[in-house]
Amino acid sequence: MKYPKLRELKEAIRSLFSKPATTKYPFGEAEIHPRFKGKPMPQETCIGCGACVNWCPADAIELIDDVKNKKRTLIWHYDRCIMCGECERICTTEDGVKMVPDFALAGFKRENLCEKKECELVLCENCGEIIATKEQILWCGEKVGEKQTANLGFLNLKLKELGIVEDTKRKIKLDRRDDLFVLLCPKCRHQVIINDSL
Ligand code: SF4
Ligand code: SF4
Repeated sequence: MKYPKLRELKEAIRSLFSKPATTKYPFGEAEIHPRFKGKPMPQETCIGCGACVNWCPADAIELIDDVKNKKRTLIWHYDRCIMCGECERICTTEDGVKMVPDFALAGFKRENLCEKKECELVLCENCGEIIATKEQILWCGEKVGEKQTANLGFLNLKLKELGIVEDTKRKIKLDRRDDLFVLLCPKCRHQVIINDSL
């Protein structure tokens, strides 16, 4: 019994002259460990591919496609998020979403507890089906590098970005080879190739 008492006394004296282990938060700055995982924050580099939506274990990321306005919105719902960091880990671009050290997430309205990222949708010029987001197609094109010019979809979108070509005005019948030069979904593109080879 003698030794523990002495040890406690030593500890008490030492703590009198050392910095407190606790902080004064919320009256002062909270000290956050550099590896602390706060909340997922979408970044500019997010291409709206939706991979994290499918992977999220808490079903906390919502994907809304607005075909009429060609807009895709991804919403991270913090009232459902379990801060596991999986969306950051599996992100296609590796930095489309980052865990930031923000832990003060309390609020009065659930609808405010979220963060959004908007992307532009690219639709098939024949059937109007969603192909992907423009950001995703351009990102894939960058990955492929010079070889992207061999893919008419990449090429078409790139030329549109540069303002060199516009949306086609003529009626697409999927029976001419030059139909491959418009933006088509895989199904319509397949149809052009079949019709052209007949
Ligand atoms: S941190 Fe985890 S729970 Fe939260 S949005 Fe990302 S994957 Fe979902
Ligand atoms: S780029 Fe990353 S963060 Fe953006 S939707 Fe795809 S997986 Fe999610």
